[in-house]
Amino acid sequence: MGMAVVTAPRKVVVLGSTGSIGVSTLDLFAQSGAAVEILALTAGRNVERLAQQALLWRPQVAVIEDERLLPQLRGLLDGSGIRAAAGAAAVAEAAAMGADWVMSAIVGAAGLAPTLAAARTGAVIALANKESLVCAGPALLRIAQEAGGSVIPVDSEHSAIFQVLQPACAHRVARLILTASGGPFRTWTKAAMAGATPEQAVAHPNWSMGAKISVDSATMMNKGLEMIEASYLFGTPERQIDVVVHPQSVIHSLVEYSDGSTLAQLGPPDMRSPIACAFAWPDRLPWPATPLNLAAYGQLTFEEPDLDRFPAIAIAREALRLGGGAPAAMNAANEVAVAAFLDRQIGFLDIAGAVATTLERMNGLGEMARGGGDALDDAMMIDVSARRIAVEVVSHIQRSH
Ligand code: NAD
Ligand code: MG
Repeated sequence: MGMAVVTAPRKVVVLGSTGSIGVSTLDLFAQSGAAVEILALTAGRNVERLAQQALLWRPQVAVIEDERLLPQLRGLLDGSGIRAAAGAAAVAEAAAMGADWVMSAIVGAAGLAPTLAAARTGAVIALANKESLVCAGPALLRIAQEAGGSVIPVDSEHSAIFQVLQPACAHRVARLILTASGGPFRTWTKAAMAGATPEQAVAHPNWSMGAKISVDSATMMNKGLEMIEASYLFGTPERQIDVVVHPQSVIHSLVEYSDGSTLAQLGPPDMRSPIACAFAWPDRLPWPATPLNLAAYGQLTFEEPDLDRFPAIAIAREALRLGGGAPAAMNAANEVAVAAFLDRQIGFLDIAGAVATTLERMNGLGEMARGGGDALDDAMMIDVSARRIAVEVVSHIQRSH
């Protein structure tokens, strides 16, 4: 009936465009033909891929966080009319260019400042960067709300919960049940895990992801971070958040209501699906997704997580229970420990050990109670002191090997 509705393309910024989620986001745009005008693409160090993406998508600006790479980026973009910029401040500026939709897909706490900068503009934030929520969830959500924007989760579990959690009966939620693949070491003995290499840890059975989140999946700290993420996003206390291991990664998470009814969201393990959801919500994006073939799976299986082999889940629960700066401290310690493991300085089981020891020391020093000021300044201060302590803890572990 009547005229076709012609809408202007949505203005988009992709933070972390060269990573696994960033690449999936641009691929989804290409495949779905979504009407987007890309204002900015940003990356940490992958200057070649950034330039390649920029020449294809023609943003106003391409930003590389590592300033030493600016001359190279300039060279690669020479004559294109695309502005090249560098540094953390330039990444945050790109985030605040006034986009309608910002994909937050930088890895680690480095994503916090740009995500906040985007939140202050009132943009819709598609949030993959779970670490920013873990570090400063309540502040980030408040700032987004005050600016008239919103935060839509991209993490597959949170996207699942977001899709099945009916706002009208949010107060009748009994439990959020996060599914976990169990990672590459699900069936390994503890002795075998002790000798696991970075190559083995990043080889995830179902998902192809960046190195850091792949190691987090292997330790199951990823699920720990996700429990904290879920608690902030959905206002659910720690005791009402459970984890179940589901190796096929088809059920992305579940919401159990007080009347015994449990709702789940399913789909093939493909991050483009939750990205599409975050882009089109409350509509659905038409794109040639692979349909879910349940008969081909035959069966879906479930297990309890093994807290002895995967202590990170219990560490994260404790941090969430402690509240305040504990999640930010845990996240910072984990980033340091994962980097040390990837650098072969410590063993696989030392990652959770280093995080636990760092949290104990922080607590002992009363560092976690620090605060009372700006929530963000507090989170940043805790991040810095936890990193300092974690570096000491890691080098102590290294010396004792
Ligand atoms: P990745 O390592 O593949 O990509 C990270 C991106 O951030 C890259 O573009 C990199 O250049 C950029 N970057 C790195 N350090 C930076 C810095 N200091 N400043 C600015 N930019 C920097 O990681 P990924 O797998 O795409 O994950 C990104 C985020 O999404 C993480 O927070 C992760 O936990 C989350 N996530 C990822 C997946 C997945 O399937 N990959 C699923 C759920 C959530
Ligand atoms: Mg996830």
